[in-house]
Amino acid sequence: MHFTGRTWRPPYEAHSVIIQATSGCAYRKCRFCSLYKDEPFRMSPMKEFEEDLAEIKSLQPYARRVFWTGANPFSMSYERLKLRARTVRDYLIKCQTMAMFASVRDIRAKEAWQLKKLRAMGINGLTIGTESGDDDTLLLAGKGYTAADILEQCQKLDQAGIEYYFVYMTGLAGKGGGYRNAVRSAELFSQLNPYFISVDSLTLFPGTKLYRMAQAGRFVPAGEKERLRELQIFIEELRIRTHLFADSRSNFYPVTAALPRERESVIGELQYVLDTVSEEEMVEYRRGLKSL
Ligand code: SF4
Repeated sequence: MHFTGRTWRPPYEAHSVIIQATSGCAYRKCRFCSLYKDEPFRMSPMKEFEEDLAEIKSLQPYARRVFWTGANPFSMSYERLKLRARTVRDYLIKCQTMAMFASVRDIRAKEAWQLKKLRAMGINGLTIGTESGDDDTLLLAGKGYTAADILEQCQKLDQAGIEYYFVYMTGLAGKGGGYRNAVRSAELFSQLNPYFISVDSLTLFPGTKLYRMAQAGRFVPAGEKERLRELQIFIEELRIRTHLFADSRSNFYPVTAALPRERESVIGELQYVLDTVSEEEMVEYRRGLKSL
């Protein structure tokens, strides 16, 4: 298999077959992120892609879901995506879905009819690192799109029948911004249909712009308890039926919930943590994190 550089897949793709379609990130401007800072974006040549598919076929000929690596393979043109999707099906006859990371910018570059065609070819299950639905926070994070862009582009996915997943990041708005970020993000996300929302919490790593801004006093990170309260508000305000996974390592206390059914119980669980764990203990936990 032609894996080069950092191979990153979300935890919920653990049962998918992984193939390198791209490596690196085509954007690399998010201020909190250093994931691919030394790795230029690259599309795997078709020769490599096909060699990998042949290898997968020899080991898992009935693979049903394939995850394409890279921060945003969906940035490829419609024609390139089409060629790769069709080639996957040439090799893996049972493959039903091809999932990958995508950014709002990548969706914007596709026409509605192209999205429908891609869905028909098996492209489904886009993880979108929205991080927030609040314009001030999106600007601060350097995401390069607005809440209105998220709404417009994800409505296109809804119309095309492409399933998608959101990421929300607590703490990203900085000290004092958690409430606003939670309310506005929940309001935006509630107008869309993310199959689930995965929640991370901001950790400032050296090498990121936000880290340097914090060092210079131009960004004040939110406290740990503020982030848990932010998560409570986000859950409280979400008005859609979805699943929430706030169980990655960046969350001090891992929780998952089927919403709205488990709304009150998970908010209560978080309140118990707020009432019984000190800020210092939570800060210490975050200090120990070495990567996302
Ligand atoms: S968060 Fe995603 S889109 Fe932003 S720079 Fe990092 S890898 Fe690229």
